[in-house]
Amino acid sequence: MFKICIDPGHGSRTNGYIGHPGFCEGAQMFKLAQYQKEELEKYAGVEVILTRKTITDDPSLDARGKMAAGCDLFYSDHSNAADSSGNWSSARGVDIYSSHRKPNADLCARIGAAVSAAMSNSFRGTKYRDYDTGATTTAPQAGALDYYGVIRSAAATSCTTAIIVEHGFHTNQQDVSFLVDDNNLRALAKAEAQAIADYYGLTLADNPAPSGDTYTVQKGDCLSVIGAKLGLDWRDIAAVNGITEPYTIYAGQILQLSGGQPAPAPAPQPTTGYKIGDHVVFSTCYRSSTAPIEEHLTAARMLRNHGVITRIVDGARNPYLLDDNLCWVNDGDIRGYYRG
Ligand SMILES: [Zn+2]
Repeated sequence: MFKICIDPGHGSRTNGYIGHPGFCEGAQMFKLAQYQKEELEKYAGVEVILTRKTITDDPSLDARGKMAAGCDLFYSDHSNAADSSGNWSSARGVDIYSSHRKPNADLCARIGAAVSAAMSNSFRGTKYRDYDTGATTTAPQAGALDYYGVIRSAAATSCTTAIIVEHGFHTNQQDVSFLVDDNNLRALAKAEAQAIADYYGLTLADNPAPSGDTYTVQKGDCLSVIGAKLGLDWRDIAAVNGITEPYTIYAGQILQLSGGQPAPAPAPQPTTGYKIGDHVVFSTCYRSSTAPIEEHLTAARMLRNHGVITRIVDGARNPYLLDDNLCWVNDGDIRGYYRG
């Protein structure tokens, strides 16, 4: 299992860096991060989290770094600036900042080579910056505190490696013209994922489970672990099995696998209730048709989280009996039709 926290730098157009025409660092890095996630998830046993869920998100540097807890790698996406006056600068190329506290020169060298090759510029080296002096060095200094907030905060968690990748200079005409192109960002993401995979020994998940297969949940499993084991997107597994937040599963539960295909769109919610014979997925249920909400049972504690309506008691609090004796549910508990 390899877990990476990708941090697309800055925020949206309103608070990200807006530089030369058509370029906003916060927006382009957000796009790049989506592509990196997509590329990394092609490898087996990879879990990717992002510090920004939407393009307008702009968490504090400290909050971003803290999200790295439990990750193998914190990867902050940026582009560099050499001139704040709005003029083009001649400086171009890739810089990587590593942590004094948790340096990783080998990984940085691989990523620097991959990014500069994709951007047709040069790798300017792996750097370490000191919080107290502001000085930049090419080797880590024992006991020095990291200058950049995201690295400082991420390195303070259990995360083993925290880096900032400066994808060229947005103040350089050649670098920025590369960065404004979506196809280039895709190619860049692919190259970065490849470099990360090489370093961490990740292999492409080229054997997705065939359609129609099932998986029996083992003790200690969670959906992301199962997805990683099988090379499937855990969200697809959740969708196919009607499992919703907080995505609780239990040992012995049999999950339908979709073979890696996107799950069909959920059926529209009816407005007039369900009928006998409907096969529905539920989130909570009850032991009787009259049980109050406080006595609900979670779907995760049941044999399964879906069933066929076999009886309806009109006007009851929980009017639908599932599978004759599984449990009772009401309209609010039903999450839609089961698509097994
Ligand atoms: Zn930046």
